[in-house]
Amino acid sequence: MRVLVVEDEPRMAKLIQQGLEEEAYAVDVVDNGRDVFLWVQSATYDIILLDIMLPGMNGLDVCRQLRAEGFNMPVLMLTARDTLPDKVKGLDSGADDYLVKPFAIEELTARLRALARRDAPVKTAVLVIADLSLDPATKLAQRGGSVIELTAKEYALLETLMRHPHQVLSRDQIIEHVWNMEFESGSKLIEVYISNLRKKIDDGHPVKLIHTVRGLGYRIGD
Ligand code: CA
Repeated sequence: MRVLVVEDEPRMAKLIQQGLEEEAYAVDVVDNGRDVFLWVQSATYDIILLDIMLPGMNGLDVCRQLRAEGFNMPVLMLTARDTLPDKVKGLDSGADDYLVKPFAIEELTARLRALARRDAPVKTAVLVIADLSLDPATKLAQRGGSVIELTAKEYALLETLMRHPHQVLSRDQIIEHVWNMEFESGSKLIEVYISNLRKKIDDGHPVKLIHTVRGLGYRIGD
């Protein structure tokens, strides 16, 4: 899951980024409202975390303009203000949810998981393909009842594939969801991660789940 964090307080931005990266999210940070529009045009974000009090353009106006320009990704408003009118304004500007600072990172990630489920065809919390299951809350992967140990990036890669079951995802589509702006284009990182993931998921199983579609990308399914 790729998240754009819009937060002008460096300390808060760093705390959120670290907390989300520990949970295997790919995170980019911008520190003002206007730059949001450059970033959403250069990458596909699964979710935007949007502070309200921002230099340049406030979060309510950013959210209204995103919706007016047709960007439909979930927006979670983050703000220190906790009065009722502000919450209503946030939701009326097109935000999907609202979290008041200070908050626990566990609550933030639980809300992100709920927002990710909202537009999914299947609303169950645990992702399942054949005898493979992945729980975004605990990061636990299991195949045929055996637990599979995954690194944070392997988890993010598997989650991206499993959120698009039986679909071919291109290298670029995978990069967009799993890595942030620091990803070096042209690197062989994806091939390395797919190879490692395939060893953990498919080795020893007669039915292979991770497929390379030559010239197009990768697909998960039986
Ligand atoms: Ca602020």
